[in-house]
Amino acid sequence: MAFDYDLFVIGAGSGGVRASRMAAATGARVAVAEERYLGGTCVNVGCVPKKLLVYASHFSEDFEDAAGFGWTVGPRSFDWKKLIANKNTEIERLNGIYAKLLDGAGVERIEGTAKITGPQSVSIGGREITCENLLVAPGAWPFMPDLPGIEHAITSNEAFYLEEMPQRVVIVGGGYIAVEFAGIFNGMGAQVTQLYRGELFLRGFDEDCRTTLETEMRKKGIDLRFGTDVNRIEANADGSRTLTLTSGDTVDCDIVMYATGRVPKVEGLGLEAAGVKQGKKGEILVDEFSRTNVPSVWAIGDVTDRLQLTPMAIAEAMAFVQTLYHDNPTMPNHANVPTAVFSQPNIGTVGLTEAEARERFDEVVIFRETFRAMKHTLTGSDEKTMMKLVVDGDSDRVLGCHMVGPDAGEMTQGLGIAIQCGATKAQFDATVGIHPTSAEEWVTMRTPVGG
Ligand code: NDP
Repeated sequence: MAFDYDLFVIGAGSGGVRASRMAAATGARVAVAEERYLGGTCVNVGCVPKKLLVYASHFSEDFEDAAGFGWTVGPRSFDWKKLIANKNTEIERLNGIYAKLLDGAGVERIEGTAKITGPQSVSIGGREITCENLLVAPGAWPFMPDLPGIEHAITSNEAFYLEEMPQRVVIVGGGYIAVEFAGIFNGMGAQVTQLYRGELFLRGFDEDCRTTLETEMRKKGIDLRFGTDVNRIEANADGSRTLTLTSGDTVDCDIVMYATGRVPKVEGLGLEAAGVKQGKKGEILVDEFSRTNVPSVWAIGDVTDRLQLTPMAIAEAMAFVQTLYHDNPTMPNHANVPTAVFSQPNIGTVGLTEAEARERFDEVVIFRETFRAMKHTLTGSDEKTMMKLVVDGDSDRVLGCHMVGPDAGEMTQGLGIAIQCGATKAQFDATVGIHPTSAEEWVTMRTPVGG
């Protein structure tokens, strides 16, 4: 049977673009459908613009810090519109690069919403298309709980395109996006309140990272309120919002931003037409090779709800292409994935948390340092850096590295390699430090906590 394409990809985000290009490079006839923007969440309303806003917001502290080093910084002002315009220009540049990459690889780009009509067919823009294999990579979408007045709240999608810089912001949620945006708006001078329903935010992260970041965010003036949630949101005549909390308290603000997780973007996708099995959240269920229960249908990235991280979607794409087009069945590795939260200060983490390690190993040894980074000896800031190693006492293998502090994201990449290689604490100790850095602490922690 002759198909229109060897591979049809739904979604030109990080995973879909990589898979399309790599598959086309093998000579496969590939088309990719995208209904919104090239580059997906990461490029348009995720990692890239978020990091730019983090840089922008941190300048307020940098100006203060400069004084201790002898600088006099003149009157300052911040132009939100200019930042957003510059950010948009950069994103358009990246959209163009993605288009060029796909075109250069010989991938056909199709704009529009693709709907699966069978195990080897999709319809798009009135066209019925057949394909030997179908790769579903439409990503995820912000989730908002259903409560009275939720229509008066925004998500991170809209936060990136606000016309004006809000002066009072409430952020609901206690995950990656919530803490990152709390830091962004706070750094830009807004009064920020972050609400989280549990006892302590960043559930799943190492306890010391959670408590250290809590302390540092409070020091910066962010009003963190845990153990509380929103009952109702009202829109006032002047455009402001009033939230009524479960505690009965009310909070007034200009913007309410929900960052309460992201759900697989499967609505209207037509998965049922192909008989593709889904999980409770709608996520596409796949095997270790990213294949669904239907042999011709594969899925990668956030829609599979494994690890919602851009580099993971890319790794899944690479493994998929190896499996399908290089006759080399390859499983993406979801273990020991290093990750950073671009909170202020950053969190960097790889491997097991102390709690996870204690569940799995008999003897767990912890090394931890909390200190003021050298830069702050002159700035007067009492921001603390926390670094922690989780070690298996029996084998001496380092199971996890966790940090809160400037550049934690940068540092954790290298630690990820060490953990991936199964490095032992003795090997960390045998490594010469780089002086003077904060990073040298990773190889100079000698005394276990309580030891
Ligand atoms: P997360 O899953 O990280 O956090 C969701 C938060 O919302 C949790 O604190 C959760 O609470 C809370 N929540 C969920 N449902 C409700 C509800 N109904 N009412 C109140 N609170 C609720 O999601 P994010 O939206 O922050 O980010 C989505 C994903 O995107 C992340 O998991 C991450 O994988 C990825 N991401 C990665 C980044 C990076 O690499 N730096 C940056 C941004 C996003 P509870 O803990 O109680 O369940």
